[in-house]
Amino acid sequence: MIDTHSHIYLPQFRDDLKDVLDRASESGVKSILMPAIDFDSLARMDELSHPRIEFRKMAGIHPCDVGKSLSGKLAGQDGFEDKLHKLAASPDIIAVGETGLDYYWSDEHVSAQRRSFRQHCSVAKALNKPVVIHNRNSTADMLDIIEDEQDGRLYGVWHCFNGTPEEGRRALDSGLYLGIGGVITFKNAGVDRVVADLPLDKLLLETDAPYLAPVPKRGKRNEPSYMRYTARKLAGVKNAGFDDIDRITTNNAQTLFRLDEAG
Ligand SMILES: [Zn+2]
Repeated sequence: MIDTHSHIYLPQFRDDLKDVLDRASESGVKSILMPAIDFDSLARMDELSHPRIEFRKMAGIHPCDVGKSLSGKLAGQDGFEDKLHKLAASPDIIAVGETGLDYYWSDEHVSAQRRSFRQHCSVAKALNKPVVIHNRNSTADMLDIIEDEQDGRLYGVWHCFNGTPEEGRRALDSGLYLGIGGVITFKNAGVDRVVADLPLDKLLLETDAPYLAPVPKRGKRNEPSYMRYTARKLAGVKNAGFDDIDRITTNNAQTLFRLDEAG
């Protein structure tokens, strides 16, 4: 399995990282794809290693961190795009992100978030790499920007998808995959019913560790080994076997992130 969205480099894992990675490996996770939240993330990603797990990096600024600078350039400001482009052009960077919009934590930065999101899309298109999108309480604006930026070159993933069937369709039509995380296991979230009708060949598995742990670990620190609960739920929703879900979503992740080529 490939955990396509995991912040395993964050301090929440500092004390027991080796155990966390051993458990991930034992549960069948072979690759961990790491979205950046800021540019300090990359140095921390470089420190990770495990004999049986492959780590892949992304570069970007989380919408909640648009106030942080990269070499003196703030996300959303002129000059930022060049800095991001230079960083993300490196062959060991598999994707641009995570970017997107988050109106839940900070609506004070809305215009900076929108500009930053577009800058990330622009860099992703120029580099022919996928963009990894975070969205919270901002679905309409997010889809509008994706559709506006789509010129045939934009592709990527709406991570931790939690939209309606219509929003899911719009995202697929705009060239996005949908990342399925622990929320699919939450009662009353309704993500399971929506996902039931979406095409399996456009779905990815992810944890968003350390956040959004699936049932039965809900409320605890999330980690890559818990992705099996999400995979099992997706198998039930899709009337498929666990191994089929593993094989198909792994294949989807390899296709989207071109994992065979990168590195
Ligand atoms: Zn994330």
